[in-house]
Amino acid sequence: MNKNSSNTMALAPNTSNKRETVCIFGTGDFGRALGHKMIQSGYPVVYGSRSTQISNLIPKDAEVLGHAEAAQKAAIIIIAIQRQHYNFLTPLAEVLHGKVLVDISNNLKLNQYPESNAEYLAQLLPGSKVVKAFNTVSAWALQSGTLDASRQVFVCGDDVEAKQMVMNIVRALGLTPLDKGSLLAAQEIENYPLQLFPMWRFPMFLSLGLTAFFFFYCVALDIIYTYIYEHNDFSFFIAITIPNRVCPVMALVLLALVYVPGIFAAIIQLYRGTKYRRFPDWLDKWMLCRKQLGLIALAFASLHVVFTLVTPLRAFASWRTGKGIISQALNNKTEPLDHTKAWLSDSYLALGILGFFLFVLLGITSLPSVSNNVNWREFRFVQSKLGYMALILCTAHTLVYGGKWFLSPSAYKWYLPNIYILSLIVPCAVLVVKFVLIFPCVDKPLTEIRQGWERNPKYSE
Ligand code: NAP
Repeated sequence: MNKNSSNTMALAPNTSNKRETVCIFGTGDFGRALGHKMIQSGYPVVYGSRSTQISNLIPKDAEVLGHAEAAQKAAIIIIAIQRQHYNFLTPLAEVLHGKVLVDISNNLKLNQYPESNAEYLAQLLPGSKVVKAFNTVSAWALQSGTLDASRQVFVCGDDVEAKQMVMNIVRALGLTPLDKGSLLAAQEIENYPLQLFPMWRFPMFLSLGLTAFFFFYCVALDIIYTYIYEHNDFSFFIAITIPNRVCPVMALVLLALVYVPGIFAAIIQLYRGTKYRRFPDWLDKWMLCRKQLGLIALAFASLHVVFTLVTPLRAFASWRTGKGIISQALNNKTEPLDHTKAWLSDSYLALGILGFFLFVLLGITSLPSVSNNVNWREFRFVQSKLGYMALILCTAHTLVYGGKWFLSPSAYKWYLPNIYILSLIVPCAVLVVKFVLIFPCVDKPLTEIRQGWERNPKYSE
């Protein structure tokens, strides 16, 4: 037996302040990082390893023993070994009988095996109490102490007492356990670290698709059409002019799409006369990614602000201003100030600034550190009332800017409407339906339905 320390603790109930010994099978990256953290938190740690050779990588105060010997020293054994090697545990069934085995393993692919690793472990060792935990924490985060973003540890298991013992260890390490229920939840927990921004996938694909559509729409109307019919080469519009048309359009359309599922939900509830029936899956998914859609919309709005601020620096803008001045000088005529134009341009800018301010406020309130500090009513007030206010201001901003093209035939190149007209379709539809929904004759039954009233009880489950 090789000892790395003289600190050996017997498996006995904790009667003093001393913590119970924890055994870790496997002296790999995760086993060492977890052992190090446990020793720091006051747990005596004994490793069960194929080799009892002392390595300077192993935490200084830990013991290293053979698997069977190490298992006898603790009531809790953490299996820091890949699933494909679990077979070696079968001969240890007797010594592991009645012990709590913590499965921390992950897979390389989603749903790689028919059953979760934890359930597989429970099948191999039916006499042991298997608990799933720690798999979403990385060895690097444990070792470096950078656990701020990942303090949550998902825990599940069929034995309540065993689960409680593991949750106590999690707490003692300064982490937050989150009980996910029985071992059936292990598959879901094992899939978490393999997911790549799951809530962002739909908003990202939608944004990419819409951006590509609006971009090529602008290229066709502003560059290709002008080149063919006016023989002007405006290909440099690709750098700033077109992005600065696409960004505000995207910001407005995506902001409106944040409020569309709420409108659909209200219509469905009114139609069904009950809230006790599930929404269709697509609506549920859409509702769950509203925050992401809103944040992408905010990113587009911010880009629009930056593009607009650099406009006076552009050679094209200086050329156009110079051309106007020279034409006035050549005609020896100063154009009088057009008050309507001045009002429109100032109102357009003011609406944009106010809309952007509310947009930023919505973004800030969606940050967990902020949203955790407001109550549900305050959160709803910002996200719903101020959100609609932002949508109204941004729609008005676009209407004041693009409205002049609605009736102008020159705006319909190749019989296609200008991009500003397109961008107003969804927001205007949302605002009109929302306006109808707040009428007392519609709002009253909707509020009653949301409080549990049912028009036709056969719909309830
Ligand atoms: P690792 O560095 O490869 O260590 C695995 C350990 O398993 C080895 O050091 C070895 O320990 C033991 N082992 C290897 N082959 C064995 C066999 N045939 N029989 C018995 N024991 C064997 O892997 P790791 O990164 O520590 O990961 C261990 C487990 O933790 C994996 O299931 C992984 O999914 C999970 N996990 C890892 C991380 C991470 O950040 N690394 C995060 C979450 C979960 P001995 O030489 O001491 O026997």
